[in-house]
Amino acid sequence: MTLYARFNPQEDYATVPSRCPNCAVELDHATGGRRIPEPGDASVCAFCGALLEYGQDLQLEPWPSDRAVPPELREAQLLLVQVLVMQALFGDEQ
Ligand SMILES: [Zn+2]
Repeated sequence: MTLYARFNPQEDYATVPSRCPNCAVELDHATGGRRIPEPGDASVCAFCGALLEYGQDLQLEPWPSDRAVPPELREAQLLLVQVLVMQALFGDEQ
C-alpha cells in the first residue's frame, strides 16, 4: 500500500478524475506516493480529510470500515485535518 496524502510538488501525479465519496469534490491529482497510484493504494481527501482507497478502476472509495487504519494513514489524516481547521479559522494567508 502506498499512501497519497503528503503534499510534495516533486511527487504530484495526474490521476483518473474521481469524486470523493464523502464530500463529492472531484480529485484529479495525488501527491506523496512516489509513483502513479494503483488499485489498493490509500489516500486522504485534501478537501474533507476522508480516508480513501483507490479501487480497481482507480476511482476513490471509502476506506473499508472493517479494516484497521495503518498508523501512517491516520497520521496523514490528522495532519490534513489540522491544516483544514487552520484554513477555516485564518484563511489561506498564513
Ligand atoms: Zn472529500
